[in-house]
Amino acid sequence: MRVLVIGSGGRDHAIAWKFAQSPRVKQVFVAHGNAGIAGIATCVNAKTIEEMADFAEKERIDLTFVGPEKPLSEGIVDLFESRGMKIIGPCRKASRLESSKCDTKVLLEQLGIPVPEFAVFADANEARGHVRKTGYPVVVKADGLAAGKGALVCDTVEDAEEAIRLIMEERIFGDAGARVDIERRLYGRELSFFCFTDGYTLLPMVAAQDYKRARDNDEGKNTGGMGAYSPHPWLDEHLVETIMSRVAEPLIKGIRERHGIVYRGILYLGLMLTGEGKNVTPHVLEINIRLGDPEAQVILPRLETDLVDVCEAILEGRLDRIKPVWDDHYRLCLIATSGRTKGKKGWYKGYPDRYKIGLPIHGVEDVAPGCLVFHSGTERDGSGQLITTGGRVLCIISKGKTLSEAREIALNEMRKVSFEGLYYRSDIGRE
Ligand code: ATP
Repeated sequence: MRVLVIGSGGRDHAIAWKFAQSPRVKQVFVAHGNAGIAGIATCVNAKTIEEMADFAEKERIDLTFVGPEKPLSEGIVDLFESRGMKIIGPCRKASRLESSKCDTKVLLEQLGIPVPEFAVFADANEARGHVRKTGYPVVVKADGLAAGKGALVCDTVEDAEEAIRLIMEERIFGDAGARVDIERRLYGRELSFFCFTDGYTLLPMVAAQDYKRARDNDEGKNTGGMGAYSPHPWLDEHLVETIMSRVAEPLIKGIRERHGIVYRGILYLGLMLTGEGKNVTPHVLEINIRLGDPEAQVILPRLETDLVDVCEAILEGRLDRIKPVWDDHYRLCLIATSGRTKGKKGWYKGYPDRYKIGLPIHGVEDVAPGCLVFHSGTERDGSGQLITTGGRVLCIISKGKTLSEAREIALNEMRKVSFEGLYYRSDIGRE
């Protein structure tokens, strides 16, 4: 079988790696990949979804798997299916669940799924009037896609007014800020929860703890993610059952019955849990229509079942007949990012702020074979030297019987890798 993976980040490297493990897969192609992915798959220079479909048709690809949200929201699944090709991911209509926070909150409320108290505005003055009136702390969110940076968490009314100005008037996220979703700020435990679904059956995956802030002790700015580990420390069976029955199942059933959408692929719920034990309530903060990065890097290595078998069950609507097997060992992901460096015009602060690229990377080949290295922002220059091309550069995935063993291994192996300004959080998985 010939498989095409769409994407070029660490998550997409993990997906390509997982397919490459399958005895059923002869060749893996990735559009457009990176230097690490090129070590295990054939990278394809297709930029638009039309070019990807042309490639898949010409190369007789048997199965395509989509990593990031952008091609999904551009309708890649509808396009491939209209040309008779098999592809894993939700259709364009379903992608609105991620690309419109406002419409999604309204839909979830209609379906009786717990959400924070919220209101939607297309007018900045009305939005300001609302935050002055509410009297509770809020989170102001740009409606559209904003690369994970579109939610501004506010402490005061002044903060909220400033957030409205930045999003709606200054348009710091472009047209994604034409509307805002203003939510009551909740205080609780946050959890990312993933399922496979064929539109009827949902299979929860093992969970991961991720780390969004740039600095140790959850300080610094929000990033795309600085590390993760799995199994999750406090996700138990009762909680899984609560999330499935109160959120995941009513959502998938609701969009199918009310809107005719058969959601196929991966469902990612961003949740805030309030209350404890039997009184726990999983409030939906956001829905994503794909695997998370870096969660995928620790979840997929734990999947013992062939990913091709899972994909076929999704496409054929028989997910109820398979039971994925997961390995019990811990996996821990440590991400090396482009940190503080000196440039010609002064200092670069480093990811998620400005950073230098084109820096030579050394030592990757010295990482112990028991670990995995997934690349995000890497390339080879004319001489074949591995260089940095992004804020998140690469990650090391370790395996351990305990979390602390996995953590120690990842930290030791990371010390072997070097590039100017390399920065990583030292507290990933510290109990
Ligand atoms: P992502 O990076 O996951 O794509 P996003 O920008 O799409 O994020 P959200 O996930 O909705 O937006 O919010 C980002 C973060 O802001 C959440 O992970 C959470 O920490 C915080 N947040 C969002 N909504 C709330 C809320 N109602 N109460 C408290 N915190 C919230």
